[in-house]
Amino acid sequence: MYQIENCINGKKVMSTSDRSQPIFNPATGEAQGTLMLSTLDEINAAVAAAKAAAPAWGTTPPLRRARMMFKFKDLIEANMDAIATEISREHGKTHSDALGEVQRGLEVVEFACGIPHLLKGEFSRNVGPNIDSWSDRQPLGVVGGITPFNFPAMVPMWMYPVAIACGNTFVLKPSERDPSAVNLVWELFQEAGFPDGVLNVVHGDKLAVDTLLKHPDVKAISFVGSTPIAEYVYSTGTAHGKRVQALGGAKNHAIIMPDADMDKAVDALMGAAYGSAGERCMAISVAVPVGEGTANKLVEALKPKVQSLKIGPYTDSDAEMGPVVTAEAKARISGLIDQGVKEGADLVVDGRGFSLQGYENGYFLGGTLFDKVTTDMAIYKTEIFGPVLGVVRAESFAEAAKMINDHEYGNGTAIFTRDGDAARTFADQIEIGMVGINVPLPVPVAYHSFGGWKRSLFGDHAIYGPEGVRFYTRVKTITSRWPEGIKAGAQFNFPTM
Ligand code: NAD
Repeated sequence: MYQIENCINGKKVMSTSDRSQPIFNPATGEAQGTLMLSTLDEINAAVAAAKAAAPAWGTTPPLRRARMMFKFKDLIEANMDAIATEISREHGKTHSDALGEVQRGLEVVEFACGIPHLLKGEFSRNVGPNIDSWSDRQPLGVVGGITPFNFPAMVPMWMYPVAIACGNTFVLKPSERDPSAVNLVWELFQEAGFPDGVLNVVHGDKLAVDTLLKHPDVKAISFVGSTPIAEYVYSTGTAHGKRVQALGGAKNHAIIMPDADMDKAVDALMGAAYGSAGERCMAISVAVPVGEGTANKLVEALKPKVQSLKIGPYTDSDAEMGPVVTAEAKARISGLIDQGVKEGADLVVDGRGFSLQGYENGYFLGGTLFDKVTTDMAIYKTEIFGPVLGVVRAESFAEAAKMINDHEYGNGTAIFTRDGDAARTFADQIEIGMVGINVPLPVPVAYHSFGGWKRSLFGDHAIYGPEGVRFYTRVKTITSRWPEGIKAGAQFNFPTM
């Protein structure tokens, strides 16, 4: 049994809290470690360390900040395998999927290496006689980050590399379920030469979140997690005068048009629905085939593939999908499948009751496929966040698109088609933040920005990429005139030309 320490002001420190919770191995169901839930004093100490480091870090030349980022990038590359192992051991995802996660986080670090260029402002000469004006993007100070369990290394890396490269200092509150990867990456961050207090990690629960949300020294909050908590974080943080970006849950639909390449669409759906056991905010959880013929072909092709998914622990290199994260998640997903059956959907493949020899206490579920789901059912409305794909049959493209636009979530979506006109109309008119055309998981690359619409994002800025730079900086505009222009004496009206 290991214990998770906080990382404050350049040092690992064991919490003195009398509150803790176990960290489970989802593949075996065994408790393998203990997470201390930090005390108020410890959370305040993390903010104080970040505050003390902020003035010097904020005025460190961006080029020097970038050089440390380059070193950090090298260290992550050299330790990819170890980071992926930490992720899989506590999250349960396959090792190859965990490596992919680290890779996508690393790409944000690569983006942050370009910070001198990204912080360049705008300049206008002679906005008035001998008067020049320029804009500058300055850091906010101390920024807080609160992250979910499903990408324990990547989602934090969506935040702090950009925030820190912009000149801010950071306090991260990771998910309680899989905290080890963050601590390992923090060690690499320190090794890269960043000053103490620039990145601090405080482990904990609601107390830590609420303290960051209300702390007068924290100027902005980045949150990624479920929609009810995202909404709470947004309303509480903004009520306390903070800039907040809060990314929430999703229900991502894929339209399959009658002219789609069915084999490719089916393979794409398999990966997008069941990869990482469906625990991705960009997972496809609803397939919308257009026309009866398309629907029949789709379900017929999906069924044997879902039945033969290779499910196993992360130590099995052949596994395509691991367990879900906790016993509670398994019970919640099974309960939603029960409800789908009760509400009248066709259960084509039933993943309840799946058991893996030697891992009977693990949180495994089989892949589940529903057909003839309707939009009034709980399995349609709710984010299931498990290996469950629902097929909702539509008669036309217009009906399918309307269904997507009417859903409360607006994170990602995809269309499979060979028809450029349908694809273009879809991209233009769909009310979703991230759109794929024959691409099932349209996660933007690190030099674009990630963010949903509707109840999938609260706040004005998407995360990482250019939007991340805007979120973590504020614009200052300077207008300057040198003495020659003052000779005429005071001027009381707005100047005209
Ligand atoms: P969660 O909302 O339960 O937890 C996220 C964070 O909020 C954790 O750090 C947790 O400690 C904290 N938290 C939980 N309850 C809280 C409360 N009552 N008050 C204050 N803080 C609280 O989410 P999760 O289960 O860890 O992650 C899965 C969810 O995250 C899914 O809904 C998924 O769609 C979403 N997600 C969204 C994105 C995105 O980019 N939109 C990306 C990844 C995950």
